[in-house]
Amino acid sequence: MGNLRIKSKQRFQKSLFKRLGLLVFVFTITLTSVLYYQLQYSFTAPDSILDAHETYYYSEMVSKWGNPPDTNQVSKEINNLKMWCGIFKRDITELGIAYPGKVYWSNLPSNILPEEFIQFHKSSEFETMYGIKIPLKVFFGEINTMSVTVVDNGNYLFYLAIDYIPPAEINNLLFAFILAILFIIGLYFFIHRYLRPVQLMKNRIEALEEGDLKSKIEIIGEDELADLSYSMNQLIMDINILLENKHQLLLEVSHELRSPLARMQLLIAMMPEHKNLTKLKEEVEFLEGMIGNLLFSDRLSLPYSKLDLQKFSTQDIIGKVMDMFPTNRDRVKIDNNIPDKQVYIDETKFSLALRNLLDNAFKYSKPQANADIKLTVVKNGDIEFQVKDSGIGISKDDINKITQPFFQANQTVSTKGFGLGLTICKKIIESHKGRLSISSEPEEGSLFILHLPKI
Ligand code: ADP
Repeated sequence: MGNLRIKSKQRFQKSLFKRLGLLVFVFTITLTSVLYYQLQYSFTAPDSILDAHETYYYSEMVSKWGNPPDTNQVSKEINNLKMWCGIFKRDITELGIAYPGKVYWSNLPSNILPEEFIQFHKSSEFETMYGIKIPLKVFFGEINTMSVTVVDNGNYLFYLAIDYIPPAEINNLLFAFILAILFIIGLYFFIHRYLRPVQLMKNRIEALEEGDLKSKIEIIGEDELADLSYSMNQLIMDINILLENKHQLLLEVSHELRSPLARMQLLIAMMPEHKNLTKLKEEVEFLEGMIGNLLFSDRLSLPYSKLDLQKFSTQDIIGKVMDMFPTNRDRVKIDNNIPDKQVYIDETKFSLALRNLLDNAFKYSKPQANADIKLTVVKNGDIEFQVKDSGIGISKDDINKITQPFFQANQTVSTKGFGLGLTICKKIIESHKGRLSISSEPEEGSLFILHLPKI
């Protein structure tokens, strides 16, 4: 039950809402990026036929400026077009391309230097792509992140840039990003609101695990989640009825069994002395004890049964358990290095679990043999109550069975028992969200450990 609880809690902690939110987040970011790059691509892709037309236009314009260019005309047209232009004479004698100096510039900012031109595409590409013949050689590229077109008329190189700085694209992305975040937040609240019944069901299951078999999930709306909430209420109600019926039946059967037993005890008391009288008495007492244990075991197996949890020091618990063994006190060796360590337990039930283990340690050992109790805190902070004996031990096959109700391994040993001690012990420690572990070597002894989770 404990494990189930933790699992369901973890499952819910990896919240559905958070996962949906994350999904939407990733989806939106991906979508924004795809859109962004798609737009980016369609505006800058060299395959745009518009680029080819533009190239043709530049080429035509530069051819009209003459060779050498008519700087008056250049200035007029360039101003009209809101562009910058730098003209450099091409020195054919040196390495084919060199820039001996600026011949002319118009509006060209001084930070535009032809040496820094980075070429992206050239006009010959358009010819192959679209079959558009462009008279002069044109190159597209950038200088200092500014888009620049270079037209080469053989003698001069014309550096043309548009007198306009587009807003940084990162701003667009930032805007899209903020929009996406707002969208995600909105969506998260919407989902949260819409899936509120899931939250209520989660709370209900947690309450159920805490022992609440009565309260109901509030039904919101009329959709599938409302149906589910309704069914869950119904299911919990049915479980409750079933459990109560079972418990009631056991109570009634025990009562019916106890009445004849009481009468038998009375009759035995009135019977004259007989050699089998004590044996008969013992058998009746045994039956009586068995009924009591059965009822107790059933109460513990009621899932979600409530514990009266309080803080105790380990010293107090060991003290209480030892008080239950006034005659065997000297036979128990206690090793408690954590006497002041606090544990959160139902004192009566937990002491009973420890007592059952100690009982067994004595029962399944040689008379007068010792038993050891050791308390430790393990790495993860859990507390271990170890009960060790050097008795007859348990075979490997039986270890897994001895916590089952009524299972008794060592039938040959003349001990009294119902086979319920370890069943009860296991139920008690599990209701504390801990566990019982058993290791044993036949003929050498056994070690029983109650693992109690830290507070
Ligand atoms: P009971 O002792 O009443 O038979 P338990 O549930 O306490 O019932 O134990 C179940 C069985 O497990 C016992 O019958 C016994 O065979 C075995 N067992 C329990 N504790 C020990 C132990 N310390 N050493 C050896 N065998 C044990």
